[in-house]
Amino acid sequence: MLKFEHVTKVYKGGKTAVKDLNMEFQPGEFIVFIGPSGCGKTTTMKMINRLIEPTSGSIYINGKNILEKDPVQLRREIGYVIQQIGLFPHMTIQQNISLIPKLLKWPEDKRRERAKELLKLVNMTEDYLDRYPHELSGGQQQRIGVLRALAADQPLILMDEPFGALDPITRDSLQDEFKRLQQSLGKTIVFVTHDMDEAIKLADRLVIMRDGQLVQIGTPDEILREPADSFVEEFIGKERLLQARPNIQTVEQVMNPKPITITEDKSISEAIQIMKDQRVDSLLVVDRYQVLKGFIDVEMIDQNRKKSVNVGDILNTQAFAVQKDSLVRESIRQILKRGMKYV
Ligand code: ADP
Ligand code: MG
Repeated sequence: MLKFEHVTKVYKGGKTAVKDLNMEFQPGEFIVFIGPSGCGKTTTMKMINRLIEPTSGSIYINGKNILEKDPVQLRREIGYVIQQIGLFPHMTIQQNISLIPKLLKWPEDKRRERAKELLKLVNMTEDYLDRYPHELSGGQQQRIGVLRALAADQPLILMDEPFGALDPITRDSLQDEFKRLQQSLGKTIVFVTHDMDEAIKLADRLVIMRDGQLVQIGTPDEILREPADSFVEEFIGKERLLQARPNIQTVEQVMNPKPITITEDKSISEAIQIMKDQRVDSLLVVDRYQVLKGFIDVEMIDQNRKKSVNVGDILNTQAFAVQKDSLVRESIRQILKRGMKYV
């Protein structure tokens, strides 16, 4: 349905907004692009819609390079909600919804029928057709914005932060409504947000971007379970990571309530010496980046002291493992906060 091949955009002045994007989406997928402000989301949307052209690379819709399609044909295929552009205040709701159908020269009665039909989809009556935007609540206006993108019934809909300016409750209910709507209409949606909750709720697949580049692509479940790197982890947030992986324990949970001393990369004999010197019977070993290497206590040393092994070797056999660096760092921060020793 939609395919990117080595797509790069360098703006005049030399800013590389999008760098070598390669990805492919199936018909009917709900795709959510997410990433921090300035990572190239809007630029990507504008390239799909041909508001701007890639500096290099190609975008295909249904197997055809979009540069080979004329603008009217492209409008028939793509509906668009632009970031932060509201309804036109001097136009009625009907006129706002019917902008693209009008450009595509749909007859007046067909446009009005379509607008009525769409209002029903979002539980608004046809009484709204002849009102003006200022006579509607923020949530209602946002609904109309979404309907505007659906009006010409295109198979591909691009939505750039459409729920950006809403209060959380309205936003939440619009998200539910829109997800249901998409499932019943069977459209392919490319949706941009910087809100992870929104992304997880809506997406069939998530595209995570940073500095114009694709960092990770996958279902919300895949991404929550296997974040590609610490950037994705930070973006997802510790709470969500722990929720998604209830079997993983933090260091704090495992150690609690044992007294703990932390040390950096040491051999087993050095570790034992520290434990003697410090008069502690357990030791948490981290590397110089504060990444957990493992945990040793007196019992383990008793079993292993005769052998000359590295702490890491013993520790790899431990039953618990905290696999992701940011969780470990967070746990260690917690441990330190609780006044435990660091040597
Ligand atoms: P996002 O939508 O993810 O916030 P954008 O695609 O709007 O990001 O912008 C990506 C980068 O490109 C940013 O650094 C932005 O400043 C820059 N940029 C966007 N539009 C232009 C432009 N017309 N000219 C030059 N730089 C631009
Ligand atoms: Mg943007």
